[in-house]
Amino acid sequence: MAELNLILLGPPGAGKGTQAERITEDFNLPYIATGNILRAAVAEGTPLGVKAKTFMDAGALVPDDVIIGVILERIASGDARDGFLLDGFPRTVPQAEALATEFEGLGRSLTAVLLIDVSDDEVVRRLSGRRVSAKTGRVYHIEFDPPKNEGVCDVDGSRLIQRDDDKPETIKKRLAVYHEQTEPLVAFYSELGILRRFDGARPPAEVHDHIRAQIATLRLEDRI
Ligand code: ADP
Ligand code: AMP
Repeated sequence: MAELNLILLGPPGAGKGTQAERITEDFNLPYIATGNILRAAVAEGTPLGVKAKTFMDAGALVPDDVIIGVILERIASGDARDGFLLDGFPRTVPQAEALATEFEGLGRSLTAVLLIDVSDDEVVRRLSGRRVSAKTGRVYHIEFDPPKNEGVCDVDGSRLIQRDDDKPETIKKRLAVYHEQTEPLVAFYSELGILRRFDGARPPAEVHDHIRAQIATLRLEDRI
């Protein structure tokens, strides 16, 4: 069977991480989330983390030359050679072009780019109420998806924290960066005929049903 090489696209707070947890389980795919990779690097104080931190704190993108090599290497490694779910990359046209060139060289191709669409107002509501497990990164929302006990992860009891870049001023900056630098990828992948659009304003279970059905259809078409 062909590889399932999937990209999640959409503004910060669209629900990419929320859906990724479900999709990776449905299709047994490795999850590559650039934000998680960068936050781990910052926490560990690695050279990548040191380079990335100031950009992330400001709500800006980490420069292309810092991130591209790291992610392409990850995609070429072990478990991702047979398929993956990529979240947060590419985020600029040069990143998308670098991925296309790499894939052309390897004879690989992208299966689909899953765009989760939500309005700017909804992004602000979601990011300002987002809380994440300090240990596992599992995502909650104080209003839309609260934990059973306030401030504590349901799964492992670890403390829930607010991400540094989920503060109001940084949220606005990240949204502007999305519209300016990442949204052009919608046209980029649309022209390649691999963009699939989902209404991210629906409840998480509904968004998940639509995405899962779409991927199942793509798989079926591939077999025929
Ligand atoms: P992203 O990975 O795209 O930045 P997240 O998956 O972290 O977004 O979701 C952002 C916030 O919105 C989280 O607090 C999450 O619980 C909440 N959320 C995710 N999907 C939905 C949804 N469909 N409806 C309401 N809230 C949602
Ligand atoms: P995320 O967890 O996807 O919201 O990403 C958090 C932050 O990490 C972003 O605001 C950027 O500063 C940085 N980041 C994540 N992915 C990329 C990328 N592909 N290119 C540049 N910066 C990125």
